[in-house]
Amino acid sequence: MGRAFVYVILGGGVGAGYAALEFTKRGVSHGELCIITEEPVAPYERPALSKGFLLPEAPARLPSFHTCVGANEERLTPKWYKEHGIELVLGTRVKSADVKRKTLLTATGETISYKILIIATGARALKLEEFGLNGSDARNVCYLRDLADATRIVDVMQSSIGGNAVVIGGGYIGMECAASLVINKINVTMVFPEEHCMARLFTPKIASYYEDYYKDKGVKFIKGTVLSSIDMNSDGKVTGVNLRDESHLPADMVVVGIGIRPNTALFEGQLTLEKGGIKVNGRMQTSNNSVYAIGDVAAFPVKLFGEIRRLEHVDSARKSARHAVAAIMEPEKTGEFDYLPFFYSRIFTLSWQFYGDNAGEVVHFGDFSGNTFGAYWVSKGHLVGSFLEGGTKEQYEAISKATRLKPAVEDLAELENQGLGFALAA
Ligand code: FAD
Repeated sequence: MGRAFVYVILGGGVGAGYAALEFTKRGVSHGELCIITEEPVAPYERPALSKGFLLPEAPARLPSFHTCVGANEERLTPKWYKEHGIELVLGTRVKSADVKRKTLLTATGETISYKILIIATGARALKLEEFGLNGSDARNVCYLRDLADATRIVDVMQSSIGGNAVVIGGGYIGMECAASLVINKINVTMVFPEEHCMARLFTPKIASYYEDYYKDKGVKFIKGTVLSSIDMNSDGKVTGVNLRDESHLPADMVVVGIGIRPNTALFEGQLTLEKGGIKVNGRMQTSNNSVYAIGDVAAFPVKLFGEIRRLEHVDSARKSARHAVAAIMEPEKTGEFDYLPFFYSRIFTLSWQFYGDNAGEVVHFGDFSGNTFGAYWVSKGHLVGSFLEGGTKEQYEAISKATRLKPAVEDLAELENQGLGFALAA
């Protein structure tokens, strides 16, 4: 049993949705494109799962957040794929790939062949078991990567109102889930090994602003330690967690956000890997000419920094998807991907954006006791990164533009004095 397509996108997440829209803009013909994905629904804006989806009042539900609404573009419902002659194969896992023969084998035993493949398999959440712990099977231990995970969090939250949640991990999944749990009237303790939250990005000063804000909302922080075991009752439900510092926390639910791993397994030994992902060139093309990779799974050259990076952010998934399709459909008109890394988060009524690289020396600016503040990163005499909380559209555009320009910075004290004015004038 088998089907053949000109273009196949493996994975039906953010990258796949934006690639599909780009294919139609560039004139793909009916029947040429197939998207095959394990998830039972058409591509959607994954960031909604830790934000609007978890709200107790008027929560976001599909079909409202199918791609590409996150970029203020068309909302691609299953009907849209049908109307555009795109084969959407849902609920189907690809279990092996053969890049020499240009085929994928599905768990249902179907062989799908392609002329061009786009790998958009994203990443999976790391499990407790990978850290030598157990508990992932418990009904009230939750992860958050896909719609099924988010639906489960909602169910568990509903039976934990007024109770206690332990959030393991201080990254953005942990931070966004903690905020949602509080909004759902659940008492939250966050546990993470680092000295402060969002340790990969935030400076201690930035982190302390958010931690104070969370504390005001009742969140407790236990830092510098990790989970050592989980207590379960005879129903297979978690009742509490034990930490390495010997403390014990009662828990009606546990949310685990301890990082992700790109889904590269199908291609190991067949394509070149780097930075834990599939290595691509500036056209998002892998070590095999007929295979492209986009989104979280792709390690691509970030021109601005002169090095290969793998980014785990929605904007990079959207833009790398568009670029790959441009390179496939109009190769002579498409240059190298020139991407400015961009990441954002929204928690409670707060909202921040980050552009560039958090390397070098940091200069903070603005009012850390008010609503708008930020930081610049300066490396080798040039601005390389900018962070802003509570900015206006124009201010975010200004820090984005300034970071891309990489202007020279001679005097850090002067930069601090100018604050946001520096970006607005750049
Ligand atoms: P994904 O969107 O993960 O899609 C991968 C798809 O491939 C999935 O549908 C998966 O089921 C499928 N797949 C994988 N393997 C197979 C297989 N073998 N067979 C079939 N299908 C397969 N980024 C931000 O910048 N800001 C945010 O605020 C933000 N919030 C987020 C909140 C949450 C809860 C999550 C999980 C992520 C968030 N992100 C955020 C990150 C962002 O969503 C990702 O960077 C983005 O989804 C990556 O897109 P992708 O297409 O590479 O992968």
